[in-house]
Amino acid sequence: MDFAIDAASAHRLAAFDKLGREQMRPLGLEADRLGRPIPPDHPYFQTLIGMGFGRTRWRPDRGEQEGSADAHDKVGNSRATLLLSEQLSYWDRGVAVSAPGPGLGEGAIISMGTEDQKQRYLTPFINPDKPRWGAFAMTEPGAGSDVAAIQTRAIRDGEDWVLIGNKSFSGNSSRADFILVWATVDPSLGRAGHRAFLVEHGMPGLQDFHIERKMGLKAYESTSFRLEECRVPGANLLGGEGHYERGAGFKGAMNTFNSTRPMVAAMAVGIGRAALDEAIAFARAQDMTDDPRIRDRLERVARKLRAARLLSLKAAWLADHRRANIVEASMAKALAPTAAFEAASLGMELLGVVGARGDHLIEKLFRDVKAMDIVEGTGQIQRVIMARKLVGLPHG
Ligand SMILES: Cc1cc2nc3c(=O)[nH]c(=O)nc-3n(C[C@H](O)[C@H](O)[C@H](O)COP(=O)(O)OP(=O)(O)OC[C@H]3O[C@@H](n4cnc5c(N)ncnc54)[C@H](O)[C@@H]3O)c2cc1C
Repeated sequence: MDFAIDAASAHRLAAFDKLGREQMRPLGLEADRLGRPIPPDHPYFQTLIGMGFGRTRWRPDRGEQEGSADAHDKVGNSRATLLLSEQLSYWDRGVAVSAPGPGLGEGAIISMGTEDQKQRYLTPFINPDKPRWGAFAMTEPGAGSDVAAIQTRAIRDGEDWVLIGNKSFSGNSSRADFILVWATVDPSLGRAGHRAFLVEHGMPGLQDFHIERKMGLKAYESTSFRLEECRVPGANLLGGEGHYERGAGFKGAMNTFNSTRPMVAAMAVGIGRAALDEAIAFARAQDMTDDPRIRDRLERVARKLRAARLLSLKAAWLADHRRANIVEASMAKALAPTAAFEAASLGMELLGVVGARGDHLIEKLFRDVKAMDIVEGTGQIQRVIMARKLVGLPHG
């Protein structure tokens, strides 16, 4: 198992450190202070486009080659993406997620979408002329962890579908060109009733966007919205008719999370490293590092972060080689936010009143880190998945 990344990726990583130090961290602190997301027309996003951010990994000419393990290792390269996610989150996780790009729905479009859907929705992200976003909306006011409980209805009406329901906490959705919306044809069918739709910005009935208040990660928008008899053409049913036998829609959503959970774990490691660096810098400046008890606590946190990082890399390596990674992805997602929370908590303890005043980076990191245990399957849900696997029960 080789966790090394190619020279070009290593070079990109180094270049993004400059961006992180000079732009991301200050922007994150400013958004936190103002309590609102970075506006979509902020010049920072145009800078990112100039640096090659915001692009899809889908290529129209790649066709079936995408299926082979070798091709995926070259093109998917989850390890490089993972290390990049970690490093960008080290500088600011909220700013990292605010970045333009096709978003969380990209994986589902690539794996489940028809050729026409990939062309229509991902082509604009191949070489974007301006910042563009895509969004993913599964969560509802009454359905978070239990995704089978979604109530947003999809009703067939002639050639079209009509969507009715409410979605919440969808990242970047008010600025997105399209939102991948999950709905059900019949709530009593549970997972078997799930369907995914590509809903375009401006479609009548996609309305009432409301940016949620958050305790942290304020640089990007988490948004609720309403689908008020939103009419969507039949061609926008992800994968088309016939794709949804035996709960394929639900499986598509879960596959999305298996590939992104290691990334979320890596982002947590990034926040945790930032917190540990703050804690160490403060401890050194205050001569606290002469105390072996303090050194021991710092080392413990560093060790847990390192372990979480290695596990995330293993999950990414397995994904790069098209090997099952459910357990590793869940384990990394369960471990990393806990380690990062411990780092931020230790920082808050060591800084004492300096942290508690509320204007120090450590206090922001302490608030930012909490969401890492919640998004894309809570830590508790990861433990449920791993425990079922351990005793030989199906995924659940
Ligand atoms: C910053 C942020 C960004 C987000 N971005 C998006 C997004 O872009 N798109 C999107 O669709 N959603 C998004 N979400 C929503 C996120 O996916 C949900 O918050 C998450 O799935 C948890 O759902 P919930 O908050 O409703 O909690 P609940 O599911 O109600 O869970 C509450 C508590 O019960 C526990 N619990 C639930 N079920 C079980 C069980 N079976 N066994 C044991 N314990 C259980 C949970 O672990 C948790 O501790 C985001 C959330 C946040 C905070």
